Amino acid sequence: MTNNSLSAQQTLFSFNELTGKVKPANSNNPFSLRGEVYTAFLKMQKAAAIDGIKIKIVSSYRSFTRQQQIWNRKYKKFTNQGLSPETAINKIIEYSTLPGTSRHHWGTDIDIVLDIDNPPTSLLNPTNFKKNNIFYPLKQWLDKNALTYGFELVYTADPNRKGFKYEPWHYSYAPTSKSMLSEYISCKIIKQLNQKNTSGSYFLSIKFISNYLNSNILQIKPTLIPE
Ligand SMILES: [Zn+2]
Repeated sequence: MTNNSLSAQQTLFSFNELTGKVKPANSNNPFSLRGEVYTAFLKMQKAAAIDGIKIKIVSSYRSFTRQQQIWNRKYKKFTNQGLSPETAINKIIEYSTLPGTSRHHWGTDIDIVLDIDNPPTSLLNPTNFKKNNIFYPLKQWLDKNALTYGFELVYTADPNRKGFKYEPWHYSYAPTSKSMLSEYISCKIIKQLNQKNTSGSYFLSIKFISNYLNSNILQIKPTLIPE
């Protein structure tokens, strides 16, 4: 695709949709997922249930404001522990994203666990998904079947992958999220974000942002990266 055809191309998603400033399209469902994502999820959930695996969504759509609260809470916690602003920011981005850059803004990504009676207190802990542990049956089922329903793991255990740590619970509906990521990159969304109420934003240099894009946002399962 040439630059000309790219600029002439109609965008499919608005800036606000890509950054969690508005709810996703057709998201009138309990999780505010995009319509097609919710439909695909229900199919996957039903198929899993037949195999004795009860899937539960613990996180789905998240707004810019909510992400900012998460960021600011962690920033406060880490700087109160004595970390420098730069170190605090680097610690936050082990697991959490800068507001406006979360895949949870898109209504395509979900965090899932097994729906069980006595869940562990720390649900989203990679150990839970290891062999012989509580969520291992779910992991095995997803490894085998998620792709059939369009869902792919984003932050894999690949030791060569940089950026956000391994999240065995985080799945993305690839048919939509790939297009969203494509537009996110081509429209240079990340550079247009206003972080005025984001703690530590003074330390978010242009260099940091471009490094964060390449070393975090794009450090995902290769099949989820647009051509
Ligand atoms: Zn997630």
